[in-house]
Amino acid sequence: MEDMKQCRYCGEEIKAVAVICRYCRSEVPSDSKDRKGKLIKVRLKAGGKKYIGDIFVPDNLSRVSDVINDNRAFIVLSNAIEEADTRDVQIGFLAINKNLTEWLEIKGP
Ligand SMILES: [Zn+2]
Repeated sequence: MEDMKQCRYCGEEIKAVAVICRYCRSEVPSDSKDRKGKLIKVRLKAGGKKYIGDIFVPDNLSRVSDVINDNRAFIVLSNAIEEADTRDVQIGFLAINKNLTEWLEIKGP
């Protein structure tokens, strides 16, 4: 059985490894600080918008492509910036539906 935790926003039970609550879509990063891994900077286009941000790659996955191809529906970016025509927009935290992702390039750590 998988480890569960309680969403601090809506109180529903969610997986301990979740970074987004499946019920209320809140960011629940409390355990992520304890997880070992590295942040990889990527640039991607989704839903007609371009974003730059960091993808967390846990130590049990070696490459960004492993994260992209895992069975979760979302790519989670931290320190995200939206590239706009006039000026870049700081977003901070962003979950992008993989089905909407048109392309993704790795910018490095
Ligand atoms: Zn919730």
